[in-house]
Amino acid sequence: VPRRIHHAFLPWAASQPDAIALADDLITLRYGELPAAVDAVAAQFSAAGVRPGDRVLLVAENAVALAVCIMALSQLDAWSATVNARLSAREIDNFLDHSGARRALYFGAVSPAAQAHAVARGAERQLWPVIGEVYLGALNTHAEPEPVFADPAQQPAVMVYTSGTTGAPKAVMLSHANLLFIGNNNRVLRKLGPGDTVYGVLPLSHVYGLSALLVASLVSGAALLLVPRFSEQALAHALAMRGITVMHGAPAMYAKLLAWSEQTGTPLLAPHLRVAQSGGAPLTASLKTDFEKAFRIVLQNGYGMTEAAPSICQTRMEAPRPDCSVGQAIPGIEVRLQGAELDEAGVGEIQVRGPNVMLGYYRAPELSAETLTADGWLRTGDLARVDADGAYHVVGRSKELIIRSGFNVYPVEVEQVLNGHPDVVQSAVVGRAVEGNEEVVAFVETAQDAKVSVDALRAYLKERLSPYKVPTQIVIMQHLPAAPTGKILKKELQRIAASGN
Ligand code: ATP
Ligand code: MG
Repeated sequence: VPRRIHHAFLPWAASQPDAIALADDLITLRYGELPAAVDAVAAQFSAAGVRPGDRVLLVAENAVALAVCIMALSQLDAWSATVNARLSAREIDNFLDHSGARRALYFGAVSPAAQAHAVARGAERQLWPVIGEVYLGALNTHAEPEPVFADPAQQPAVMVYTSGTTGAPKAVMLSHANLLFIGNNNRVLRKLGPGDTVYGVLPLSHVYGLSALLVASLVSGAALLLVPRFSEQALAHALAMRGITVMHGAPAMYAKLLAWSEQTGTPLLAPHLRVAQSGGAPLTASLKTDFEKAFRIVLQNGYGMTEAAPSICQTRMEAPRPDCSVGQAIPGIEVRLQGAELDEAGVGEIQVRGPNVMLGYYRAPELSAETLTADGWLRTGDLARVDADGAYHVVGRSKELIIRSGFNVYPVEVEQVLNGHPDVVQSAVVGRAVEGNEEVVAFVETAQDAKVSVDALRAYLKERLSPYKVPTQIVIMQHLPAAPTGKILKKELQRIAASGN
């Protein structure tokens, strides 16, 4: 059992050296080539002044080069702080400041966005062994290394930023043990192994891609195809032609794929696909049904958060679900619903304890203390109820609960109904404060040629929801604002809703 993430692939390097480990459009690395590649890149980081306990900002989109750098920094006991290159210059500067990074590395060869950030900061173009062109930012001589942990498994491997759905992103410290626990969990629950080809479009800069794709593939001896940007066409092509057996995505990705297929009249084929999982945001019943009709395999669901590396609940392949439950707690952790006994509907806050729970937020002791109880429970801030068989149903975030004239409106319930309308690709419901009350505002992304009106949508909702749940305002948008993971940025919609008051 490996104790550090850069040990994950070593058994496979010995047993199947010719099997592909990582591939993108520029580079293919076989398991047998990985150890030397990681050594060579670690030597470059050392030469660039990176010491144990240093943070290194990796400004990237998905690429083999990024994966190798994460492993190389692990080998040096340094922390990767992975950042999506498609964030704004201001956000990247914030991460650079906050992390106190010794160096920043920009992956210009695969990411025009990373290259633009590199050029703007005067980073130096270099050619590194194996991974090729990178841009190295200036040495931060003020950077202080963090102490290295005595127990190597408890050493932070990465600092990952949360999606920023509800506010400014928080920097989560995840240990080697955290990532390997979740990587292994995915290997077991999704039966990953040699012979699997995993579609890697979820950003490695986000925890879902990092542990459920990268670490899970490497501990399993599977091949991971790294894709820098989501495109419906590229995904459809890969599913049909590139032997993809496993894919993970945000619900928005599946929704866009199906809408694109219908609109362009392109049939969807995935002859080798055996696992498809949605996670990171609420799954909609109509999306699950449409997906399963198109691909003839079950769409699995998983719930988690950055602070839990990320998996908390996952549906099981042995027991396909007809609903949008996120499934049972993953094996080896504890989950409880705090306060559920006080709620008529049995809804409480999901709390988690176990080897997946983060070390804490970086440089934010108060926030860490608010989020982690003294006896090790992580307060997720998400509300759920649980079935008799232990399967959880996430009803939404406590922060997003809308209280309208004393009645609770869960945005997810309204979104579920809206997403069931044939012309709706996806939707997001937020609250708007009005004198002493809250209103419900819905944002709807419709299919490209759809002519559906706001009135028609309201009528559709009225037939299906109690009056207090029907939005006061419905806004049709061409695209909902989304993070690079495909997650809808609700804080932005809340701002729009508030300003439209
Ligand atoms: P921030 O914490 O910065 O506001 P975020 O919470 O969206 O952003 P992540 O850690 O990426 O950042 O997302 C975790 C959250 O996503 C969970 O707390 C939960 O609200 C939501 N979520 C994840 N998976 C699911 C799912 N399958 N169903 C419903 N909600 C989900
Ligand atoms: Mg969060």
